[in-house]
Amino acid sequence: MTPEVLVRAEQVHKSYQRNEVLKGVDLEVRRGEVMCLIGPSGSGKSTFLRCINLLEQIQHGRLWVDGELLGYRQRGDTLHELSEKEQSRQRADIGMVFQDFNLFSHYTALENVIAAPMIVRGESRAAAVERATALLERVGLGDKLHAYPRRLSGGQQQRVAIARALAMRPKVMLFDEPTSALDPELVGEVLDVIGDLADEGLTMIIVTHEIGFARRVADSLAFMDAGVVVESGRPADVIDAPQHPRTQAFLSKVL
Ligand code: ADP
Ligand code: MG
Repeated sequence: MTPEVLVRAEQVHKSYQRNEVLKGVDLEVRRGEVMCLIGPSGSGKSTFLRCINLLEQIQHGRLWVDGELLGYRQRGDTLHELSEKEQSRQRADIGMVFQDFNLFSHYTALENVIAAPMIVRGESRAAAVERATALLERVGLGDKLHAYPRRLSGGQQQRVAIARALAMRPKVMLFDEPTSALDPELVGEVLDVIGDLADEGLTMIIVTHEIGFARRVADSLAFMDAGVVVESGRPADVIDAPQHPRTQAFLSKVL
């Protein structure tokens, strides 16, 4: 695998009981690349992100981040599952932002951001606070450090969630429909923050229905349907000239 490839999925299969949700996902994301992942509801997008974040275990195939096999150690032809501790170490390098924010409701914005660096990375409180403050300022929340989530709008909560993920200095950020739970007038402020991160060269996989955003910000666009990546390429190419009938059908509905 070339060093430019940061995330690589090879024939990833995931089933829930008899329901095969991922049926051989192949994907490559280069270092510094922003990939948007689109596709109909139920096609397996969230499941795929959860597999990269080791929230789900895959049954077949391989996933790598930064050259490291996720969840397993390979010896010869056999795979040995990593311990929970080793999986946690891998997970710490992968940032995840969920549709419904998932903030700790009994923690302030600042406490949400410092928790993992202190607990998982062993950072001192002072160092974690300094960095969390800078991150919250960067997402436009310098005046909300001590606010609890219930006092924040959805857009503000999602920006706290982004700062929280960034605080772990992730190698890659995964976004699962980060604006789908927001009132329309709050979508822009969150997309602007994600767009800034793209400009800074952060590697990201973004599941989104915001096709205009994908066209503007993504380096590549992948269309997923029924558990496989059907088509991928430069956003303008995929959006304006989809090759596969399933991509054409999907885009004709959402555009
Ligand atoms: P998408 O994000 O593209 O809408 P999902 O990955 O959420 O798709 O879901 C794909 C399929 O996997 C759906 O049929 C869903 O019902 C199923 N699924 C997702 N999570 C679970 C789970 N924890 N247990 C059983 N089935 C699940
Ligand atoms: Mg989903």
